[in-house]
Amino acid sequence: MPSDRKVAARAADRANAILEIDLRAVAANWRRLKREIAPGVRMAAVIKADAYGLGAAQIGPVLARAGCGLFFVASLDEGFALRKVLPKTAIAVLDGVLAGSEAEFARAKLTPVLNDFGQVQRWGKAHPRRPAILHLDTGMERLGLSRGEVDRLTADAGVLSRLDLAAIMSHLACADEPDHPKNPEQLARFRAALARLPKAPASLASSSAIFLGPPYHFQIVRPGAALFGINPLPGKPNPMRATVTLRAKILQVRDVDAGETVGYGATHRMERPSRVATIAVGYADGWLRSASDRGSAAIAGRRVPVVGRISMDLVTLDVTGIDADRARPGAYVDLLDDRYGVDDAAAAAGTIGYEMLTLLGRRYARIYRGAR
Ligand SMILES: *Cc1c(COP(=O)(O)O)cnc(C)c1O
Repeated sequence: MPSDRKVAARAADRANAILEIDLRAVAANWRRLKREIAPGVRMAAVIKADAYGLGAAQIGPVLARAGCGLFFVASLDEGFALRKVLPKTAIAVLDGVLAGSEAEFARAKLTPVLNDFGQVQRWGKAHPRRPAILHLDTGMERLGLSRGEVDRLTADAGVLSRLDLAAIMSHLACADEPDHPKNPEQLARFRAALARLPKAPASLASSSAIFLGPPYHFQIVRPGAALFGINPLPGKPNPMRATVTLRAKILQVRDVDAGETVGYGATHRMERPSRVATIAVGYADGWLRSASDRGSAAIAGRRVPVVGRISMDLVTLDVTGIDADRARPGAYVDLLDDRYGVDDAAAAAGTIGYEMLTLLGRRYARIYRGAR
């Protein structure tokens, strides 16, 4: 029987596009946040959406070994899946516990994030003294108990006494804009609510909020994006390490006469005689169509622009002036690397690194570096 590693290597040889995920870089990002940015504070990891597309089954154990004792996922199903690879670690489910699913949470020992008064009541009745996290909305108007519901909760000592609060959390709307007045406003609201509730570890900070400084740290911080190399400080140098590289093979290179157009819609007309390379990646792989005629890739370190529309499986690049032995069928083009990361590719597509990363497709051969 060939080893898993050999099978993966062969699949990569065959593959027209390879997504490489550096687990050591994820662990290094964890340590950097833990030791340098929020020292002395408990740190959870948010690995919802299959660890932002990178694979929760691989990322979860790596972070657990790095010392993570609390994971957040979005849905009950993500919780079940993570429970299989992390039998003991605490796993919290951000979507909350909808009526009727309390037993499923308890069976998989998942910690519900209680998002409204009804969830608090039902969980306390169904599973008194099983850990839960209380989520307060302090200005996001999305999920969590409203101020009115916190009033109701504090007026009803019975409801609170049935809860084992693993944490009380809230979430900031504008953490990636350090000077936004909403940040101190939400901080003040969170503090005021905490003062009225039973003592429990408090948690407010996602990746960007950790960089707002110690007043935002409380007892537990909960980064997601920064662990995966997304810049928590938009517009400033990225303090995190890139965790993914993406390469795609050139399928064909052609000479295109001046005046000819490239791709669907004939949107791009070549002004001079050109060479165009067609590569094996498209919007079905998460290479967003909105980056048509805007994004770029690199061949042997030289940037080459996308020309024409991005189609489902193919992207066309202007490789005029690139050595023919570099720009040839079968050669790899770099789409994401240390110098041009998900935030850069996202900017070209008119979106954010979060969306880019979570959309990177299922069609790539995936190689995990640093896996044990
Ligand atoms: C996604 C999420 C996080 C993590 O946010 P990042 O910006 O990825 O660090 C933290 N808390 C909540 C409630 C979230 O939904």
